[in-house]
Amino acid sequence: MKIQRLKGQSAIITGSSSGIGEAIAIELAVEGAKVVINYSHSEKAAFDIVRGIKKNGGEAIAIKADVSNENDVKDMFKEAISTFGTIDILVNNAGIQKDASITEMSLNDWKLVLDINLTGQFLCSREAIKEYRRRGLTETSCALGKIICMSSVHEIIPWSGHVNYSSSKGGVSMFMKSMAQEVGRDKIRVNAIAPGAIKTRINKEIWATKEAEQKVLELIPYNRLGEAKDVAKVAAWLASDESDYIHGTTIFVDGGMALYPGFVDNG
Ligand code: NAP
Repeated sequence: MKIQRLKGQSAIITGSSSGIGEAIAIELAVEGAKVVINYSHSEKAAFDIVRGIKKNGGEAIAIKADVSNENDVKDMFKEAISTFGTIDILVNNAGIQKDASITEMSLNDWKLVLDINLTGQFLCSREAIKEYRRRGLTETSCALGKIICMSSVHEIIPWSGHVNYSSSKGGVSMFMKSMAQEVGRDKIRVNAIAPGAIKTRINKEIWATKEAEQKVLELIPYNRLGEAKDVAKVAAWLASDESDYIHGTTIFVDGGMALYPGFVDNG
């Protein structure tokens, strides 16, 4: 029988009603973690995921919370801790795109993306760290707690037409590293994952047609689009003690997208 690497632990995965977050929640549940499916709008999807996890013998609850809203985040942590006793793993995954050229981008859309993609990670991490320190070490993990921040290849690859999104992910990179430096001595382990092009609803236009997919494949040396499960497998490993000495690092899950593939025959 497969050993469950997260048995006895609890996790909040923000934005887990869809895409990468959904896959991570399912994977962590398979590894034995009790999981919170967080959503802001997709209620039915969130409860369907909870049902699916329970059907497979896992434990899950759904909690509605807008990660950019301080009170929502505090309430989500309260509910999660009162249900599961504590939280051991936070996956800061919720994120959106609101694309426009810079002169067409509204201040609202600039702020919305920064609020959800970056401030949301700050608000959730702050609550997680307080809970890890309150609870103290347990026998379920070498670490006091784990935080995984969802970044993107666009933390290093500039992206015209998406200045709000790429700025938010550049911010996530420095947020993650500064936080890792600050809380490492408490045995709180902080890392990030930078996905490349993963097939989810956020980027449907890049895989909806064969032509669109072919165009994006030119940017991926490994020559396939990513699946949400590719990211979920890495998240499960990063949340487990198998990666106990990995701290303050971003793991790129991108089929080589960050290797400047434009230079293959053009450098
Ligand atoms: P997705 O399928 O659109 O999922 C986004 C999730 O975030 C949904 O569950 C959504 O829930 C939730 N969400 C949005 N706003 C929220 C808020 N204010 N509070 C709480 N939850 C909120 O997109 P995805 O591709 O899985 O993206 C997940 C993460 O991966 C994002 O951070 C994204 O930037 C990152 N990423 C994705 C790719 C890719 O190629 N797909 C590449 C690099 C990085 P509701 O529907 O309920 O709002």
